[in-house]
Amino acid sequence: MSDDTGVERTLVLLKPDAVARGLVGRIVARFEDALLKVVAAKMVWMDADLTKRHYFDLEERFGPEVYNLMAEFMQTGPVLALVLEGVEAVACTRKLVGPTYPDQAAPGTIRGDFAHMSRAYANEHHLAVANLVHASGNPDEAEHEIDVWFGKEDIHEYPTAAQQYLRQQQYLQ
Ligand code: ADP
Repeated sequence: MSDDTGVERTLVLLKPDAVARGLVGRIVARFEDALLKVVAAKMVWMDADLTKRHYFDLEERFGPEVYNLMAEFMQTGPVLALVLEGVEAVACTRKLVGPTYPDQAAPGTIRGDFAHMSRAYANEHHLAVANLVHASGNPDEAEHEIDVWFGKEDIHEYPTAAQQYLRQQQYLQ
């Protein structure tokens, strides 16, 4: 979702490693700190069908071994699915999350601060890259992924105190 105000929605999953490590609060706080608003949330233990719908092109992009490792990893425990809303939310969220391979993610990003696995290590040891968070890659992907995870009725419109302040100061439309 995007409109002429630049407000977008994006899909975030806190993957099973983030939930199991008790990092939910700290990770969500980083998004909230950056003025991203949680407009939908649910905890789900993914099954094979939802995994396929979410990662529909992963097998084509990386081959069956990576797909199967990821599918298994994503079903090892529940994930927390969120829709975040804010100005340029898709790019902003990706910036906070950091690059795919945590060894390349700078300190200050979620993947850089809380994980370390490299692509080479994952490949050598036949592991899924446990990188804590999924975040939509671009606005089209965000629209598709939000539809996979949430119905229209699950997404809430409400003002935050920060939005009210920013509107009052005319920083936000
Ligand atoms: P991102 O999640 O940053 O958008 P991709 O869509 O390219 O990255 O990959 C999806 C997920 O697949 C990654 O987040 C990571 O958990 C996993 N992954 C990517 N490459 C590998 C690999 N070589 N081996 C195992 N898992 C991988």
